[in-house]
Amino acid sequence: LDVYGAPVIGEHERWLGVVIVFHDITELKNLEQVRKDFVANVSHELRTPVTSIKGFSETLLDGAYQDTDTLLSFLEIIQTESNRLEMLINDLLNLSNMERSAFHIQVEPTDMKAIIERAVETVHPKLSEKNIHIDLSLEPIMVKGDGNRLMQVVVNLLINAATYSHENTTVKVRLFKQGGQAIITVEDQGIGIEASEISRLFERFYRVDRARSRNSGGTGLGLSIVKHIIEAHQGKVEVESTVGVGTVFTVYLPLASEF
Ligand code: ADP
Repeated sequence: LDVYGAPVIGEHERWLGVVIVFHDITELKNLEQVRKDFVANVSHELRTPVTSIKGFSETLLDGAYQDTDTLLSFLEIIQTESNRLEMLINDLLNLSNMERSAFHIQVEPTDMKAIIERAVETVHPKLSEKNIHIDLSLEPIMVKGDGNRLMQVVVNLLINAATYSHENTTVKVRLFKQGGQAIITVEDQGIGIEASEISRLFERFYRVDRARSRNSGGTGLGLSIVKHIIEAHQGKVEVESTVGVGTVFTVYLPLASEF
């Protein structure tokens, strides 16, 4: 709580009273904390791959390069970590772009069915790696949106569905109309999410299981990017999940007929 006091002085220097202002700065303090946490998180996330790239390249230069097997396996690690760094930087730039108050998306009538089909193709290698079956049921629906951004939303949800699912399971994707909106659902038969974690899921860098998620290649930014994009479309995203059973992400978007 901030408190300011000031005398109120009238004509002939006469004291009329005192004005006291109480200013609740809890909200500001929270924002400041969120900002500090974010900077700390970014530094940590960037440092991890850099440390690894430095370490492995130094070891190689110190002589380990002479053993071909070591050389190849270290180079592979260096490549993976560089890719990770690139992914992080791209996600961060994307997010910071979207967080500027001037951020506007270009909306036009967009074929949502085609976008989902393209997203599925993009993620296909990751799905087939784990032999995950994809079950599509898509109505032809035009939404009011930015095609590239919406593609990113579906790709992020599909990558998560694949990452947090076991082998030989099914991911269902639905697109339909309800209540004057387009609805997309992505449902997996994965590990699920504890109810207590759901409210923090869309925060930057929030992960239910830090170690597992980082090893799986995620940046911890995927869902916050999803949320920003959907909110810029005046839409909404919800999650329902049961641990050990699976998770459903539901996205609501305005129809193109809303123009
Ligand atoms: P990450 O890069 O870690 O996947 P996200 O922002 O995409 O970051 O997701 C945040 C966290 O939410 C993940 O670390 C994971 O714990 C949880 N999560 C996201 N999608 C799913 C899902 N389909 N099933 C279970 N957990 C999920």
